[in-house]
Amino acid sequence: MHEHEFRFALESLTYPGTSRTLGELKLIGTVKVDSHSLHVELLTQSDESYMKLKSLIEAEYSASFKQLSFRKRTSQKEIHYGHSAKPNNRAPYAKNIIAVTSGKGGVGKTTIAVNLSIALAQKGYKVGILDADVYGPNVPRLTQTDTERITWNEENKIVPSENYGLKIMSVGLTTPTSDTPLVWRSSVAVSALIQLLEDVAWGPLDFLVIDMPPGTGDVQLTMAQELPITASVIVTTPQLISTDDVSRAIMMFKDIHVPIAGIVENMSFFIAPDTHTRYDIFGSGGGQKLSLKYDVPLLGKIPIDMQIREDSDFGRPSVATGNEEQKNYYRAIVDKMLNEVSFKL
Ligand code: ADP
Repeated sequence: MHEHEFRFALESLTYPGTSRTLGELKLIGTVKVDSHSLHVELLTQSDESYMKLKSLIEAEYSASFKQLSFRKRTSQKEIHYGHSAKPNNRAPYAKNIIAVTSGKGGVGKTTIAVNLSIALAQKGYKVGILDADVYGPNVPRLTQTDTERITWNEENKIVPSENYGLKIMSVGLTTPTSDTPLVWRSSVAVSALIQLLEDVAWGPLDFLVIDMPPGTGDVQLTMAQELPITASVIVTTPQLISTDDVSRAIMMFKDIHVPIAGIVENMSFFIAPDTHTRYDIFGSGGGQKLSLKYDVPLLGKIPIDMQIREDSDFGRPSVATGNEEQKNYYRAIVDKMLNEVSFKL
């Protein structure tokens, strides 16, 4: 087989867990082949995708070659997957799709996704939130819908839970009890999420907000391929601002041409409840620097607030139940986002 025939064969393989080929996803770079060795360059930023592609190709070709070698090409300028392939639209019922993501877990991504969704609903928009965080599906707990289980309507569509003016669906609700661990391979998770996009009776929505898993794995890549994401919001904490995890998340969205609405700096500063003195525990200006470096807006900063932690852990999102100051943190972010992004409304 010649190199171009090999390239064609590689590009025809299906990316695990999706219906897209490696060619469509523009994941194959240079291919070099001779009688006993095959070298393939893989155009991906994510280690998870790289390992997945490597095993896929090894399973297919290790019997035919003495030596198989791979290289990951990550330079931002060289990657164009997703550029020419227009994304599918598995959620035609939603006018706009907002993906909330973070480089690492535990930064308050879910708390922010829930509060921003409620702030949009409080403005009168029809809002659904899909909890796609397969590693920590906490949206039901934050919205007090965690004791609900899935029910179907007469048209055999899944009925979403409702609270705080939101329609809510979570991968967490697809397990028998809320504390069943979700030890899912990502391809299983991806197909479950596609089912939740297609089989839930969301009704017409102005905004579908997706609480993504942290990091830059398959779920993000597939969501970007299967949905025309209008804007992504990247949540970080001041300690993580200068880390590779945040940069990787920003770079990945840029690479796959998902528009970035901006960064939210969470647990940014502390206001002493007794004296109201503000403490910039981790220094200040990190979010601003990051915003300048990557040319993405800083949508807002939210302080560390014991009440936010307690309320969100008890299913009382601050924008619905907190004091005016707490509500305004989230409302200001939503206003800025509505200003920055030309949503279809
Ligand atoms: P992630 O989705 O990034 O894993 P969560 O939204 O689940 O993060 O938040 C992690 C923990 O931090 C939760 O206990 C939550 O209540 C708490 N938390 C989030 N934002 C704040 C904040 N601004 N102040 C205090 N605690 C917060």
